[in-house]
Amino acid sequence: MKLTILGFMGGYPANGVGTSSYLLESAGFRLLIDAGSGSVLALEKHIDPLDLDAVILTHYHADHIADVGVLQHVFLLKNAPNVKEVPIYGHTESIWHTVRESKSSKAIDYSGQEAIEIGPFHVEFLKTIHPVVCYALAITERETEKKFVFSADSGYMEQFIPFAKDADVFLADTNFFKEQQKSSVHMTSEEVGEIAEKAGVKKLILTHLPPNEDWQRLLSEAKEATPNVKVMLAENDMKIII
Ligand SMILES: [Zn+2]
Ligand SMILES: [Zn+2]
Repeated sequence: MKLTILGFMGGYPANGVGTSSYLLESAGFRLLIDAGSGSVLALEKHIDPLDLDAVILTHYHADHIADVGVLQHVFLLKNAPNVKEVPIYGHTESIWHTVRESKSSKAIDYSGQEAIEIGPFHVEFLKTIHPVVCYALAITERETEKKFVFSADSGYMEQFIPFAKDADVFLADTNFFKEQQKSSVHMTSEEVGEIAEKAGVKKLILTHLPPNEDWQRLLSEAKEATPNVKVMLAENDMKIII
């Protein structure tokens, strides 16, 4: 499967980079994971947004759903008068879950308790520590059994270690520096490094990066915490074959 980074800024867009959004492709199936600010423009550089097969939302903070509305407009208007309907997966533990419903989208609920199948992907969930209900995703490509884990937004939780066990790629919320420990909102460089090391992941990608901060310091702090794992910073338009 192929992962493309469409936006990695934490909280708000800055310096031409949008907020959380990732494209995951396998066997011609295209899944958009979160639709942060700027994601439709970023997506257009890679595929026609109309060719998306599904969208999944981890939670309903603005930096993860800002472009849901304009994506629905693409599906409504771009091929008018034909309206294409895109399924948008999300949980219902927020009044904002109705953002998934429109003339050109269909809300599909996940409970977070049971795994679901989306096209070629087997998707498991882990409720995170965050000011609003949010789910991390462990996505396995059924054909190859390759595993991609996305922490979504979360403070540190030990449960990430079994959840991310042996993942080929762990994409982790690294909004904070080493000294900013024990947050109930986001993780630090050191915390995501420790999880990666204990879970034995093959590659750790730092995302949800704080705008206008020293990301090289985040990178070196994470590397220090996980000497055995390849660590990289998210970059826009970066493609990773998993
Ligand atoms: Zn966020
Ligand atoms: Zn959030």
